[in-house]
Amino acid sequence: MNAINLLRQGVTCRNLIKDYGSGSAMVHALRGVNIDINPGELTLLVGPSGCGKTTLISILAATLDPTSGELSVLGMDLPHLTKFQKAAFRARNVGFVFQQFNLLPALTAAENVAVPLVINGSAKCPAVARAMEMLAAVGLADRCHSLPAQLSGGQQQRVAIARAMIHEPRLLVCDEPTSSIDAKTGQTIMELIRKEAVKPDRVAVIVTHDARVYDFGDRIITLEDGVVANDRRAPARATSSNAIVEPSAVLAPVSPLAIVAGRS
Ligand code: ADP
Ligand code: MG
Repeated sequence: MNAINLLRQGVTCRNLIKDYGSGSAMVHALRGVNIDINPGELTLLVGPSGCGKTTLISILAATLDPTSGELSVLGMDLPHLTKFQKAAFRARNVGFVFQQFNLLPALTAAENVAVPLVINGSAKCPAVARAMEMLAAVGLADRCHSLPAQLSGGQQQRVAIARAMIHEPRLLVCDEPTSSIDAKTGQTIMELIRKEAVKPDRVAVIVTHDARVYDFGDRIITLEDGVVANDRRAPARATSSNAIVEPSAVLAPVSPLAIVAGRS
């Protein structure tokens, strides 16, 4: 794999701006975000409520359009895709884990997990069979036929993680995946994400405001009031060479060589 391909697998935001509403009711949710996010590591996006975390990952996942700025996700110039192209991009490339799980209540756990495969054109039977394997991988082999209402919060979140990963998305985004479950279950969920979700060619971004899960990340990006206020390696995983993500690496156009060097 050459350096250009590595670059294309990541995320690049330049002066990304998102305003909601208009006139005196306008909210400046993102005020010029500049970041590069690399595949193969777990990136945590943290910051106080209202700082723009959900807005940013929704834009990366192509469920929300930025107001202006440049954005490349997995080599795609997202702001310039058509609605149809964005839907196809999401179906193929994006796994999304929500705070409230968002499982379909009338479907069993296995049927819920199978949904992304079916959306991508798979027949239902092989999709559900694969979903049962995914549920086994997240420790729920015996709950395949349960409805969401018959599962605990932690179990529902495992189902949601299996669903987000079944189609092997190259972008995984999780919006506060531990905040609707108790602290101990939250640790288990983060261990699961750490073990199953981080892949060499996958960009994984987890939004959290729970400092207890910081140790699970490789990198912690802090947003404040719609801009990046801090960008650093997680202490538990930092090495002498990568402890701080230099501001220049955040703001300057990324060099493919820098990415290769950073991953050596
Ligand atoms: P976070 O996820 O960090 O809590 P959000 O991205 O949800 O922050 O929100 C950032 C800002 O944008 C907040 O001030 C929020 O109230 C505002 N906001 C979010 N969604 C909308 C919306 N659909 N319409 C208007 N304002 C919004
Ligand atoms: Mg949010």
